Amino acid sequence: MDLYEYQARQVFKEYGVPVLDYRLASTPDEAREGARELLAAGASLLVVKAQVKTGGRGKAGGVKLAHTADEAAELARAILGLDIKGHVVRRVMIASGANIAAEYYFSILLDRSNRRHLAMCSREGGMDIETLAKERPEALACVPLDPGRGIDADVARRIVSQAGFDQATGEAIVPVAQALWEVYRGEDATLVEVNPLVASPDGSIWAVDGKVTLDDNARFRHPAHAELVDADAQDPREAAAKDAGLNYVRLDGQVGVIGNGAGLVMSTLDVVAMAGREFGGVKPANFLDIGGGASDAVMARGLDIILGDDQVRSVFVNVFGGITACDQVARGIVAALEKLGEAASKPIVVRLDGNRVEEGRAILAQAAHPLVHMEETMDGAARRAAELAAQTPSK
Ligand code: GDP
Ligand code: MN
Repeated sequence: MDLYEYQARQVFKEYGVPVLDYRLASTPDEAREGARELLAAGASLLVVKAQVKTGGRGKAGGVKLAHTADEAAELARAILGLDIKGHVVRRVMIASGANIAAEYYFSILLDRSNRRHLAMCSREGGMDIETLAKERPEALACVPLDPGRGIDADVARRIVSQAGFDQATGEAIVPVAQALWEVYRGEDATLVEVNPLVASPDGSIWAVDGKVTLDDNARFRHPAHAELVDADAQDPREAAAKDAGLNYVRLDGQVGVIGNGAGLVMSTLDVVAMAGREFGGVKPANFLDIGGGASDAVMARGLDIILGDDQVRSVFVNVFGGITACDQVARGIVAALEKLGEAASKPIVVRLDGNRVEEGRAILAQAAHPLVHMEETMDGAARRAAELAAQTPSK
């Protein structure tokens, strides 16, 4: 999960990373109020920043400096509603502005391809770091980190000296680098990036921007992270699936897909996409793995989530019976359709194979649900589901 900048700033503050005070606003009036508070607390410069989970806000007109509360309100009015790379700005951060003498770069990240943690640091911050890495790699210090040691004072000194900082600036950055490591380790982040990390004319160091990615696999040991989830931005179906313990990812096609086992579901997406070419580019609408040993309740919940998706025009249930045999799955489907009643309103193509397949097919045949189409092969079923999707008008 990526954090908004203001959330990252809050976390930074808790770990002692130097940040300036801020207020959050979703209207120009709130921005004016927040700006007044910051000015009253001694701010001499304000910055109004779009809160969207994408970089390059500055270039897109989403970061502006202000000197008065009215000016901050006007800038907020201009920035709210902006579309920055497909992200509409709903809130702005009004922050105390830093006086900037120089902009640097500092990040800690999980370098997956090399299976290690890495610190990166440069005296040339503010600009796009990918560009810097490509055009002037020598200006970017990359220091692999020992996960047991992280960034202590010595490691921090090594990083800043490799980046070419003078003694005084380097020493000012050392404690900041250590605090950023504490954020990374303490919050189970896979990325903590500060671009720019700035030096003020008096030599003090400030994290002016912050990008933090938290490892969702570590969520269980951070109950507080639940509060950082942005319910508005989350797909409601993905949220419902998560609550139900289902492995669901929404895509943008028309054929809902349910299967048991991640590998089977992935190949189902492929065959649906392939078959869909014949019908004007019909595509899978989602990934949904109900896992092995899925009960009828789980099948019902999965079908419910998929059938409730307006973009879905047909559903493909692709199950390979193993420990949970096909007859159990078939009973699950029948029970699910009974439970859903009127809510089940789209054609459902079922392909069963594996353990007790004959019994499973017999159960579905006997139930003779008008929406259920049985197919024997995966390719045949994919083709049928794509065809039905192409024939079914969207709602
Ligand atoms: P990004 O464009 O999304 O990465 O947003 P940033 O927060 O990095 O801001 C972009 C640029 O705006 C920075 O590189 C700075 O030059 C400038 N900026 C941001 N915050 C401040 C501030 O507090 N004071 C001043 N003077 N400039 C700032
Ligand atoms: Mn930035």
